[in-house]
Amino acid sequence: MKNKIFKYDFLIVGAGLIGALTAFALHKKNYKVLVIDKNNDILKDERTLAVNANSKEFLEHLGIWANFSSKPQIIKKIVIKDNINPTPLLFINKNEPMGNVIFNRELHEIVRKKLLNLKVLKTNIDLDIDHIRLSKKLKINKKTYSFKKIIISIGKNINLKTGQKSLIFDSGYYSHVGFFIHKNDHKNTAYEIFKKDGPLAVLPSPYFNKKKSTFIYSSNKKISNAEIHSMIKKDFRLSHGSIVFDKTIYKYPVIPHLKKYDKNFIYTGDTLRSIHPVAGQGWNLGIKDIQTLCKLTEQYQLDDKSFNSVYYARRMIESIIYLGFTSLINYAYENPQPISKSILKVGYKGLINFKFLREIFIKQAMGRINLID
Ligand SMILES: Cc1cc2nc3c(=O)[nH]c(=O)nc-3n(C[C@H](O)[C@H](O)[C@H](O)COP(=O)(O)OP(=O)(O)OC[C@H]3O[C@@H](n4cnc5c(N)ncnc54)[C@H](O)[C@@H]3O)c2cc1C
Repeated sequence: MKNKIFKYDFLIVGAGLIGALTAFALHKKNYKVLVIDKNNDILKDERTLAVNANSKEFLEHLGIWANFSSKPQIIKKIVIKDNINPTPLLFINKNEPMGNVIFNRELHEIVRKKLLNLKVLKTNIDLDIDHIRLSKKLKINKKTYSFKKIIISIGKNINLKTGQKSLIFDSGYYSHVGFFIHKNDHKNTAYEIFKKDGPLAVLPSPYFNKKKSTFIYSSNKKISNAEIHSMIKKDFRLSHGSIVFDKTIYKYPVIPHLKKYDKNFIYTGDTLRSIHPVAGQGWNLGIKDIQTLCKLTEQYQLDDKSFNSVYYARRMIESIIYLGFTSLINYAYENPQPISKSILKVGYKGLINFKFLREIFIKQAMGRINLID
């Protein structure tokens, strides 16, 4: 017993929103999985997630969607405004909702509970990731393990020495997140307003009625809570009626980056790539990482040498496009030179005038386009 080696298929390091779901999805596929996290409790997270149609189906398939006790709010319409173009851009999909808004914390608690019940989650474990190598046996809580594959899902840890370095786009940005009650129904409409100093998103919040919304304002400029409140009141009093804010505004750092290919590990979620929250797609892209991984297990043996490189080939293009697009659009709005203004005007006009472009945009936002399969 003393020298026993516990043989597993997967080790997942990090049981955040993506690592925990990766472990649960692979366990459902009958793989022997161990997931570890350095923290015992889930991190304090007051954010909401705009879950796109593809991710909702994924959660339904895992049997998780039915577990929410707060009421997810459907997004039926998206309104985009800026300070360059006179008319707003409207995105409406008649066939199905474009997304659903849920609480990060609730999802995280549901999945972690399932993993604890399955006895595949160990917390308070802080391994030195830079020294883990596949060939080595790993000691975790005095037991010796061997794993066929190691997945790193520790969030936006750009300081990892392992493998190739990250490409870091811009830093110094923060997202300010809060909630408000309003007199009028939000009509299941999500808003994105590109302001001079950063984008402001307002989304329906999970709630028993349609009179609560959440906001996300991202900027690299200093701004007081009072200034954020007055900006939202100015923009939303007409549509939402009188507004009463929750006291606290939560602040989250924004670190857009992309990790390069690593032959030893599979990176998922924010460890692989983190994008500006303007698109509300970071976690949705993490779900696509899990879907790609699950599909690969049906096509390749876990010890196949090309497994990791095929995974990165399938996930890199979309990651680069999202990272590039979200970072560029922010840059263009924050630096309104004649050339960037003209590009924004042309793009905006194209989306207003051409239905097929709007449909591609909607499909992409819903996670319905797979660039490489
Ligand atoms: C304001 C804001 C709003 C957002 N809104 C949306 C949205 O509407 N839709 C959307 O799709 N995305 C959204 N995102 C992005 C989304 O929140 C992230 O992509 C997602 O939370 C990333 O999950 P993750 O599991 O990769 O990382 P995390 O949730 O950060 O989890 C990392 C986990 O790893 C653990 N860990 C860290 N280091 C170690 C270690 N050395 N060993 C073991 N464990 C470790 C941590 O304890 C943690 O549990 C938003 C982001 C922001 C900032």
